[in-house]
Amino acid sequence: MSEAAVLQRALDDLDIEALRRKYLDERAKRLNPKGNSQYIEVKGEFSRFIDDPYIEAPLVRDAVDETVSALVIGGGFGGLLAAAELHKIGVTDIRIVEKAGDFGGTWYWNRYPGAQCDIESYIYMPLLEETGYIPTEKYAHAAELFAHARRIGEHYDLYPRTLFQTQIVELRWDETDSCWLATTDRGDRIRAQWVLSASGPLNRPKLPGIPGIETFKGHTFHTSRWDYDYTGGDSRGGMTKLADKRVAIIGTGATAIQCVPYTARDARHLYVVQRTPSTVDLRGNRPTDFDWIKTLQPGWQRERMDNFNIFVSGMVAPVDMVQDGWTDLFRDLVTSWMPEDPRAVPPEEMARLTEIADFRKGNKIRARIDAVVKDKATAEGLKPWYGMLCKRPTFNDDYLEAFNRPNVTLIDTQGRSLDRITETGIVFDGVEYPVDCIIFATGFESGTNYTRRAAMEIYGRNGKRLTDQFTPRPRTLHGFFTDGFPNFFMLGLSQNAFKPNITDMLAEQAEHLCALIAAARSEGKTRIEPNSEAVDAWIETIREKSKARRQFLATCTPGYYGGEGDLDQGLLIETYADGSIAFSELLRTWRAAGDRSGLEVH
Ligand code: NDP
Repeated sequence: MSEAAVLQRALDDLDIEALRRKYLDERAKRLNPKGNSQYIEVKGEFSRFIDDPYIEAPLVRDAVDETVSALVIGGGFGGLLAAAELHKIGVTDIRIVEKAGDFGGTWYWNRYPGAQCDIESYIYMPLLEETGYIPTEKYAHAAELFAHARRIGEHYDLYPRTLFQTQIVELRWDETDSCWLATTDRGDRIRAQWVLSASGPLNRPKLPGIPGIETFKGHTFHTSRWDYDYTGGDSRGGMTKLADKRVAIIGTGATAIQCVPYTARDARHLYVVQRTPSTVDLRGNRPTDFDWIKTLQPGWQRERMDNFNIFVSGMVAPVDMVQDGWTDLFRDLVTSWMPEDPRAVPPEEMARLTEIADFRKGNKIRARIDAVVKDKATAEGLKPWYGMLCKRPTFNDDYLEAFNRPNVTLIDTQGRSLDRITETGIVFDGVEYPVDCIIFATGFESGTNYTRRAAMEIYGRNGKRLTDQFTPRPRTLHGFFTDGFPNFFMLGLSQNAFKPNITDMLAEQAEHLCALIAAARSEGKTRIEPNSEAVDAWIETIREKSKARRQFLATCTPGYYGGEGDLDQGLLIETYADGSIAFSELLRTWRAAGDRSGLEVH
């Protein structure tokens, strides 16, 4: 049967009751009362998993003792966008502190084979017009993304203003001088009036708590520290040193989807250890059409970002500029069937239609697996059975095909994981598979306290610790500010709106925060802090609006969006549920009112 015919049949055969039962059964297999505590914190004997393998020579330098206007924490795209925005408002005496050896953040660390952005490069790579760069592909690969971060660093002259291989260990508010004092692991002391913290949402690798993990005598590493000394090759593949190696990749999230095809090509044998399959839709990468580029007018990147954001917010515009798996997903899930006036449809009917759309999309995804993967049992094992937005959707044209190779074995643990790891291999269902190397594609900490993920403590007014301020849960105004911590601004995903295009989200945040700083400076003011009533009210708003999302995630198979089953720790649980378009409008209206309601500005 042709691929198109398989897809059509999947759409025609929709047995809603059977699908409901199947989704519930599969979820039940995966519920884990340990939640986030099932993972091993990477420290002590495991700290080698976060050592930096990319530094050629350890840095030797004298400690810095200085005063700057603004301190930017993190040199990923968030920190770079904050620095670029500070530059635009005329704040140039800044200091960036970055633990890695260069700019890039995610793209400094993630150099695994096949790594590429999964949001279109033309909208994902920030500041393209400002830096005069055009990506070479619709979905650029890791080296190009890393190079672009460096380009932004050069363009805004940020290298001389950055301390690399340095980690802030403590930030302390100095009430007398009305500034922050940052101390680092290299003994630096940096005083700054403003602090913009962009430490990244998923920056601390995590390891699975599989019994015996510490006993393995072969080679191991985490995907975000890919060991090319061991594998040979680079992020484009060519890992010739794996030719005689039996390799296990544990995990099948967005990272594994990208690195499995490359490892499959190069390893003697590859075992893919799956607990829950990802949804894997078509990618359709292609080289940039430079004739098209010539037609672009100034402002094109912002226009394209906004256009994409409309589609992934479940709305439509006259033209879908990006036309990819993401916009297709939201068309299938929402706009293709949504009645013109959804409010005219009873809520139960809307819920039924939403569920049907999700099942249909799921069937399409599963039918593609049947069409590509030749071995029936393997194809069955690779099928995801959960709502499309329960986990990060993935897109790849080679992942499923990799399972047709004779040297690739899927170990489908059906939600259980491995029995154990031994000195020489991995064990599932009582069978030991000897391996030379185990690669952990098991993701990053999420839902833990901000200060733990940022690896620093922050002491606000009266010595209050941010760890305590954010226990049990964060408390912010708009996700950016918290009471008792003046001039401390957080960029990233928090009690604000999520955009799948994270760099667009960060750009908007940087612009908003720097506009506030610029206004305060122009008025001769030096302090911005939210009042407690405004923070309380914002949390109330966030929690009230997020009830429906909470209900949805409660039905999902576990994952970090829903805190691995502990909803309060979910990455998306306290985001602004009306969506990013409504949130942008809220910020615009709030700024336009001119009274900076909820903030005390002195
Ligand atoms: P994820 O958290 O998405 O995936 C971790 C994987 O490890 C899951 O498949 C998980 O299974 C599995 N796992 C965890 N514990 C065990 C265990 N004990 N036994 C077996 N398997 C286990 O991490 P990723 O690194 O894949 O991705 C993180 C995020 O980074 C993505 O969601 C995405 O946002 C981003 N990303 C973006 C990319 C891009 O191109 N822009 C590329 C790669 C990542 P289970 O599902 O059962 O928990």
